[in-house]
Amino acid sequence: MSLIVMKFGGSSVGDAERMKRVAKRIVERKREGNRCVVVVSAMGDTTDDLIDMSKQIVEGTPPAREMDMLLTTGEQISIALLSMAIQQLGEKAVSYTGWQSGIYTEAEHGKARISDIQPHRVMEALDNDSIVVVAGFQGMTEEGQITTLGRGGSDTTAVAVAAAIKADLCEIYTDVDGVYSTDPRIVKQARKLPEISYDEMLELANLGAAVLHPRAVEYAKHNKVNLVVRSSFNYNEGTYVKEETVMEQGIVVSGIAYDKNIARISILGVPERTGQLAAVFTALAEVKLDVDVIVQSGVVNGMADFSFSLPADDVEKALNIIEGIRERIGFREVTSEVGLIKVSIVGAGMVSTPGVAAKMFDVISKLGISVNMVSTSEIKISCIIDGSRPHEVIQALHTAYGLDTEVQAFVGGPKDRR
Ligand code: ADP
Ligand code: ASP
Ligand code: MG
Repeated sequence: MSLIVMKFGGSSVGDAERMKRVAKRIVERKREGNRCVVVVSAMGDTTDDLIDMSKQIVEGTPPAREMDMLLTTGEQISIALLSMAIQQLGEKAVSYTGWQSGIYTEAEHGKARISDIQPHRVMEALDNDSIVVVAGFQGMTEEGQITTLGRGGSDTTAVAVAAAIKADLCEIYTDVDGVYSTDPRIVKQARKLPEISYDEMLELANLGAAVLHPRAVEYAKHNKVNLVVRSSFNYNEGTYVKEETVMEQGIVVSGIAYDKNIARISILGVPERTGQLAAVFTALAEVKLDVDVIVQSGVVNGMADFSFSLPADDVEKALNIIEGIRERIGFREVTSEVGLIKVSIVGAGMVSTPGVAAKMFDVISKLGISVNMVSTSEIKISCIIDGSRPHEVIQALHTAYGLDTEVQAFVGGPKDRR
């Protein structure tokens, strides 16, 4: 008998019919002799709809605590309906919110990290032969405040619960049948990866591949959780995410990801003094702004230029902070540019293969697009470029690195938002 965690995303439970189909899938797993904990997201576009509703009430940024109170209702609807659907099929089921499941988080509304899980209620229900349905994406602080884990965070709930209850397997059911070499909605010839290493998956997730939440991968790596991504729409083999994988001959790049809505800020004419870079980035860090790629030009006549990238939503806030330290730094000018994207190639094989970066720059430049900024690690190269033709760039890179296949990628239904 195995103990498994099964996670279903929003599109898998988008309406009553889908909810019933998911319930059937869960009951099948139970009747195969497994003990099942299910983690579920809000139905379809519920989270987006709730965000829209808050915008109708509040101009600007809504209060973070109340936003978490609002958004967690989405998952609460799902757990209740899914438990009912399972009970209709003749199995015992019980729904628990994040806090009832003993999921404790840090006190950071909107992007809280899980700090501890005390799953005794979940274990008791399992011992009672019940299927346990846990709300994804939510937890509670030590002080009893309700928090959420960031968009896409139900994956993290699933992996964290799997680690806490020492599950044999954590299955992430979604609307594609595995992890592909790139988003199969963009490239129809994307290839499904039978397996991928935690490190490569972590890079892809961090660089924008929505199929797994980055923290879920971090958690899985750290706790050695057996993780598989598969479809809730069919029974195809999924993709196993694991420690070590067999590298396919000749494949240097395993995946391509992209992140839209990137901006660049440049601070020009910065008098060369020690501590200038530190002063700028400390000021930005103090207000929790996430700065990504940083480039500093050479010093000319005692003056340097800095540029950095950041999410486009944060530009205004960052510019205000920089204006606030203008006198202290003494720079000449600050400029910004929005509408950029970050496109990244990831592969454990690239560290020992020369020419990988050169090929990337060549492919992008042949499309008549210039590369604004570059960052690299042992297993990835990211370029920040103009964002007007993302699909063309991804398709061209996919072909150039030999990733196109003949087999049509599986995509289960449309996805209009997010
Ligand atoms: P869920 O609601 O099940 O959590 P998500 O929308 O969060 O689903 O994640 C699944 C989506 O991730 C797919 O529909 C696909 O468009 C996107 N995606 C992006 N990159 C990849 C990739 N490399 N492999 C598979 N899917 C990807
Ligand atoms: N419902 C949340 C979201 O839409 C969490 C999740 O789907 O994982 O982001
Ligand atoms: Mg998701």
